[in-house]
Amino acid sequence: MKRVVVLSGAGISAESGIKTFRDSGGLWEEYKIEDVATPKAWKDNPGLVLNFYNQRRKQVIEASPNAAHWALASLEDSFIVDVITQNIDDLHERAGSTQVLHLHGEIRKSRSTKDESLIYPIEGSHLDIGDFCKLGSQLRPHIVWFGEDVPAMEEAIALTMQADYFLVIGTSLAVYPAAGLIAYAPAYAEKFLIDPHPSIPAGENDLTIIRKPAGIGVPEIVTLMMNSYV
Ligand code: NAD
Repeated sequence: MKRVVVLSGAGISAESGIKTFRDSGGLWEEYKIEDVATPKAWKDNPGLVLNFYNQRRKQVIEASPNAAHWALASLEDSFIVDVITQNIDDLHERAGSTQVLHLHGEIRKSRSTKDESLIYPIEGSHLDIGDFCKLGSQLRPHIVWFGEDVPAMEEAIALTMQADYFLVIGTSLAVYPAAGLIAYAPAYAEKFLIDPHPSIPAGENDLTIIRKPAGIGVPEIVTLMMNSYV
């Protein structure tokens, strides 16, 4: 079976009601990144950081996968599909995708501040001061903050290098190292960018640009792939 590698960003969840990073009126606009999504923010004001992610977690729990997530899950009938996502929501999994690598963490999980291998699912929407790991240390959101390493990057590169099809969906390609993944897709791979407002010019990185919202563009390309290449 041919291999499909997907790189998704906030845009794929936009039609599920989860604001993208740069949307006006989005949650991110009410906060400064450095106040809520950095190791220094956690050190200075953990309550504010927890509150920010509690709000976002509630939004994720209330959201449902959209046509783009469902279409990608259905691709697994005919292809080996690896989804590499910059998103911290779990909408790919809830649509049925079985191989999802989260580059920037998962909002519905917490992690020990003493031993980072201790990762727990969060029941409900709240993680609070005083929620401890089994070693007695405060739990933090299982999120990769700005300025932190992206431990899944090596695996993401290895997957990307095996792609026959590389689908980039709903990302401004502004956050590194994730944005650099495109360079690792083989020359022979067919590469598409599905985004209504792509941030890169046509032809760059060999990407065919589909200027549509994910909920329309992804099902279309999935249908084409299923019909043409099976
Ligand atoms: P971004 O906000 O920088 O870019 C979003 C992209 O999505 C833009 O290019 C925009 O044109 C596009 N877009 C908007 N609506 C779309 C739609 N309906 N269909 C397809 N594309 C659409 O987001 P990013 O590139 O993912 O990077 C920002 C960072 O913010 C990431 O690290 C990510 O972890 C984080 N983030 C995650 C979520 C989430 O988990 N759902 C939400 C917001 C931000």
